[in-house]
Amino acid sequence: MCLVVCPTGIDIREGANPWCIACGKCSDACTKQMDKENKKTLIGYWSENQISQKGSPIRWIRPRTVIYALFLTLTISAIGILLSSRVPLYLSVLPDRNIQPMLIQEGIVRNFYEVQMQNLTPKDRTLKFEIETSDLQGERKILVGGTEEATVQLKGNSEERYRLFIELKIAEQDSKKRSHDIKLKVIDIQDSEYSKSETVPFLLPVSISGWKIQNDERIVHGR
Ligand code: SF4
Repeated sequence: MCLVVCPTGIDIREGANPWCIACGKCSDACTKQMDKENKKTLIGYWSENQISQKGSPIRWIRPRTVIYALFLTLTISAIGILLSSRVPLYLSVLPDRNIQPMLIQEGIVRNFYEVQMQNLTPKDRTLKFEIETSDLQGERKILVGGTEEATVQLKGNSEERYRLFIELKIAEQDSKKRSHDIKLKVIDIQDSEYSKSETVPFLLPVSISGWKIQNDERIVHGR
């Protein structure tokens, strides 16, 4: 019977075969057939040890099972920790390549960014942009979409795009390097746990080397 039901045409009575897909049909067929004669099945899932030493007990706790259990526990714990620390906010900040960094009045450089945010909670949020860290120590200002505000309203389960202006005052030593890293943080003003950060480049205009810092630490072009 086992030969008849086998989908791959194996005669499993000849022993283990690499073409066996472990469907178990031969074992079921053999069990049914042998049951009719009140005998035990001839085909089953046994280890080599069980076959060579009939009646030997199954060793459930072996080095391999312990290692697998350990790995599984670690993986589940890591997934649990990641899920519990996940902030349900999607944030993407990209420099706006269409508008070059520019020097505006009194030695202040302005950079432009495209921001995309998605509120993954049903709650409406008031989010504030902040500069968390920066190697530029001068005065800082963030403006959203040409307003004087650094905050935005983001409705629950919604997605919005914003144009962000970041203005930083540049000191003389800062102008030696063209690209600076700043860490931008978005935080819910009513819930400090709901925050996310992203590191973005802050570029100085190409011609910055033509500027000099005066005694009052303002940058003036061509002087
Ligand atoms: S388990 Fe399936 S594939 Fe393997 S020998 Fe039995 S019937 Fe054939």
